Amino acid sequence: MMENQLYLKTIKRLKRAGVNVKRQREVVEFLVDEIERYRRKIANLETRIEYPVLYKCNGKRCDVCKKDVCELTSDIRYAKNFVMDGNLFVETPLSDQKTRS
Ligand SMILES: [Zn+2]
Repeated sequence: MMENQLYLKTIKRLKRAGVNVKRQREVVEFLVDEIERYRRKIANLETRIEYPVLYKCNGKRCDVCKKDVCELTSDIRYAKNFVMDGNLFVETPLSDQKTRS
């Protein structure tokens, strides 16, 4: 597997640089976590490509939206009923009420 080669190469290089075993392990653990994180990110992106989600457009996206032609957008950054909260997109309470009525 490609990652195993990466870990071995990393350990080799750290050894050569005189890094102790404990620190070597920390670095490899960090790499394992990062690779896992990126893998999840890629899986999310693949899902979004395969099953696109459309959001009610906030009308600020482009000229088309301003002309009231566009109702939906696949770009969540321009979704009417979602707000950015830190690094998360959160559905607004207002849109919740609308869907229930
Ligand atoms: Zn639009």
